[in-house]
Amino acid sequence: MSITAQSVWNNCLNFIKDNIQPQAYKTWFEPIVAVKLTDNALSVQVPSKFFYEWLEEHYVKILKVALTKELGETAKLVYIIKMENTYGNKQPFTERIPSSNRSSVKAQDVDVPLKNKDRELRNPFVIPGIRNVKIESQLNPNYNFDNFLEGDSNRLARSAGLAVSAKPGGTSFNPLLIFGGVGLGKTHLAHAIGVDIKDKYPEKTVLYISAEKFTQQYIDSVKKNNRNDFIHFYQLIDVLIIDDVQFLSGKSGTQDVFFHIFNHLHQNGKQVILTSDKAPVDMQDIEQRLLSRFKWGLSAELQTPDFETRVSILKNKLYRDGVEMPDDIIEYVAKNIKSNIRELEGAIISLIAQSSFNKKEINIELAKQVVEKFVKNTKREVSIDYIQKVVSDYFQMDVDTLQSKTRKRHIVQARQLAMFFAKKLTKASLASIGSQIGKRDHATVLHACKTVDNLSSTDKQFRKYVEDLTKKLSV
Ligand code: ADP
Ligand code: MG
Repeated sequence: MSITAQSVWNNCLNFIKDNIQPQAYKTWFEPIVAVKLTDNALSVQVPSKFFYEWLEEHYVKILKVALTKELGETAKLVYIIKMENTYGNKQPFTERIPSSNRSSVKAQDVDVPLKNKDRELRNPFVIPGIRNVKIESQLNPNYNFDNFLEGDSNRLARSAGLAVSAKPGGTSFNPLLIFGGVGLGKTHLAHAIGVDIKDKYPEKTVLYISAEKFTQQYIDSVKKNNRNDFIHFYQLIDVLIIDDVQFLSGKSGTQDVFFHIFNHLHQNGKQVILTSDKAPVDMQDIEQRLLSRFKWGLSAELQTPDFETRVSILKNKLYRDGVEMPDDIIEYVAKNIKSNIRELEGAIISLIAQSSFNKKEINIELAKQVVEKFVKNTKREVSIDYIQKVVSDYFQMDVDTLQSKTRKRHIVQARQLAMFFAKKLTKASLASIGSQIGKRDHATVLHACKTVDNLSSTDKQFRKYVEDLTKKLSV
């Protein structure tokens, strides 16, 4: 029986298949084509330079063992890089790696790390996490459908997600765009779809990536002149999940490359899943042609959950964590934190932590403290009303007194402090601060700010006021 490139390679594949993860085998070995066998050198064709580098970096040992078994110690492996679907270049090109200085890669010396020898042949762009074959998809198994509770606020998006995962690429929900505000479950749902697909179709290549990382990889690929490899890599994926696409706004280069990847995937029946904090109509600085693609499939909104859903999310979380908590506490938290599930969970977690670290009983009092901190904490900007309230509480007066026309020194000081903090902690103009704190004009506010600055550097007692209030207002 004569040995051919094909027969040698088939034997190698059998050996490799038994020794690596099935997914890795499928991704990195199935696409390889054996081309020819001359002088004990097997030439194989790989789809991109990136592919070649990946093999060199991760699979060179096993390739060497397999090939040596077939062809003996003098075996050599030669890669031929054949790019099809080359972006921006209709002409497919064939490139031989390595170029002039090394005409073939010898199986016996390739296990020396390439980076020491020839830097530019290394992995052209880092896909963090994908290096490790086991977490290739970058999916978080803790985000699944089982723990993504259903409610009116997410029913459409959740069902669409289930439909997509039952038949990736085979529904009209392509792309599936999940949109909604911060902390409402976009990332969770996106992972859940991916995890379910991997479960049902283990052979599919699923990749989860944030738009931010995607952008970074793209920029790196341009720097290193590997744009085609970047595109090619993404075109190999069966289910592409890009989180937070609003991040692409204003980034026309990345949008352009994504447009081409998207088209390729879509045309080939591959599934694209996107998330965004805005509906397509509200996205700014995203090219029209991309926006129109986003609308091809389904845009499903995650809305703020109603009270019942919030309670059941909390109960489910506590149940999974094995923590018991009285219903009235759960309901108190659910009633007070409305617009963000992440904060809802955060409040419960800190409640549990508070009670276990400080050995306090979880009661409504503690829940109040935690919720208050939480709501305060997560507010980007404190309001002028809130500042006036904190300052008047601190000086044990009411807000009306603080705003009154009186010239009593301690009231004037309290008012000035409120103005000072309003200037410092909000984006409001001097005029607007003045009008909200007792209908004063902008010059009064300016004067107040200067006075507070002066007094806090000359008057110890006054400095203490500023410090105390800073603490109260910043936690
Ligand atoms: P986003 O990406 O929209 O900002 P995330 O997906 O990060 O939000 O969700 C925030 C938190 O809320 C996560 O811990 C997630 O598990 C949880 N969460 C969101 N929606 C649900 C839901 N329907 N059921 C259970 N947990 C949820
Ligand atoms: Mg998210």
